[in-house]
Amino acid sequence: MADCIFCMISQGKVPCHKVYEDEKCFAFLDIAPVSRGHVLVIPKEHAAKMHELSDESCPALMLAVKKVSKAVQEAFSCDFNILNNNGKMAGQAVHHVHFHVIPRRGIKEEFSFNWVPRKQQGDDDAEEILERIKERIIGSANKQ
Ligand code: AMP
Ligand code: ZN
Repeated sequence: MADCIFCMISQGKVPCHKVYEDEKCFAFLDIAPVSRGHVLVIPKEHAAKMHELSDESCPALMLAVKKVSKAVQEAFSCDFNILNNNGKMAGQAVHHVHFHVIPRRGIKEEFSFNWVPRKQQGDDDAEEILERIKERIIGSANKQ
């Protein structure tokens, strides 16, 4: 997509600190890292959100996330978060699918992605929720 910053990065039109590249994916350092070694992993295919990505790019992307995560973990002997935001309400600022790999080395690298407030019990209408989601799942073995 012509005016997408991440498409331009993966096509070499905008400079970045490249970490990894294969036929379908690309990874580079985040320009405003949450912690040292914060990497973004993207598909070369343009898709704004995860559910819009093709079935070909999706497994390739997961494999690239795994490879980058392994390298980051070994480089820094750290724990790490993998985050993926979809849509403005979920905090997505760049509308090209990307996974954040964020090293975590302790209290000094806390960041405010906190799951608060959170219910102490399941939703009251869990059965209805279940039905709404399950009937839209494609190819599930446990669909009844
Ligand atoms: P999100 O909020 O999940 O959409 O995250 C977008 C991320 O892209 C942020 O962490 C930004 O710092 C990062 N970012 C935006 N522009 C660039 C760029 N040109 N190079 C590297 N990272 C970028
Ligand atoms: Zn794009």
